[in-house]
Amino acid sequence: ERTVVLITGCSSGIGLGLAVRLASDLSRRFKVYATMRDLAKKERLLASVRGCHAGTLEILQLDVTDPLSLAAAAQQVLEQHVDVLVCNAGVGLMGPLETCSHQAMKTIFDVNVFGTIGTIQAFLPSMKRRKAGKIIVSSSVGALQGIPFNAVYCASKFAVEGLCESLAVTLQQFNVHVTLIECGPVNTSFLANLQSTAAEGSALQGLDPQTRALYSQYLQHCQSLFHDVAQDTEEVLQVFLEAICAPCPPLRSFTTQFFMPLARLKLTSPDGSEYVRAMHKFVFSAGEAQGDRA
Ligand code: NAD
Repeated sequence: ERTVVLITGCSSGIGLGLAVRLASDLSRRFKVYATMRDLAKKERLLASVRGCHAGTLEILQLDVTDPLSLAAAAQQVLEQHVDVLVCNAGVGLMGPLETCSHQAMKTIFDVNVFGTIGTIQAFLPSMKRRKAGKIIVSSSVGALQGIPFNAVYCASKFAVEGLCESLAVTLQQFNVHVTLIECGPVNTSFLANLQSTAAEGSALQGLDPQTRALYSQYLQHCQSLFHDVAQDTEEVLQVFLEAICAPCPPLRSFTTQFFMPLARLKLTSPDGSEYVRAMHKFVFSAGEAQGDRA
């Protein structure tokens, strides 16, 4: 009996990689429903599996922000129950808060928060009925700690942490496991796909010079961080695979230890002051010794 896995956001990045990896599994352990908002983007996925997916891959349209699309996908799949639901679709938003448009912020919350909730709602009832299932969520270091100039993205990812941690408590009784995969920077098209307020040059021009200078410092930091510590998708996929295959995966699984020292400050200094200081230093004191960076 194959493990049925449904993944959202499979046209690129982690979702694409995971769908390919599972559908091409040599022992054919998985049946993958790779879903994407826009089926016109399915060529990359098809090219990557190149024929080794007979019976292991199906591609479905699914826009996580569209309730009709969610209902249609759920109906197509539910005759064959979903063992593992991977809520992966997500978008970033970067820029000084004053420059984030209402529409951009709404999109981020629609995809990252309401999209994840809607996806879980569509598949949870059948998991509860069967008293079995796994819900795996692409989460982020930015879901656990605030990152400058990513305030709205972090707000949306923090929301998902609260959602999943809350659900995990009751879902224990239903043998449904919720796992947040905490990714640091990953080499995907995430940076290219994110909404950046810098694209609207005029928004930045109205900004005070100090914030503008900090933002440009942040962008340099971000570039070198991706250069120095970004993980390859394959490395991250390994962590997803472990969660998919483990009998009882934990609530959180980290793809990298790099941000642990910063994350721990929340526990050792609950009032947050040490975190704020350390993150400021991490981002805005470029050129200091490597050892000071985390
Ligand atoms: P990506 O941009 O390649 O993938 C995101 C996918 O979500 C895209 O395929 C996009 O089409 C899809 N998507 C967007 N809106 C959608 C919608 N309404 N319905 C369905 N699909 C939609 O980037 P990625 O790095 O593969 O991101 C995957 C997940 O990992 C995201 O949730 C992201 O927040 C998280 N993450 C990424 C990084 C990173 O550095 N790449 C770090 C931490 C967390």
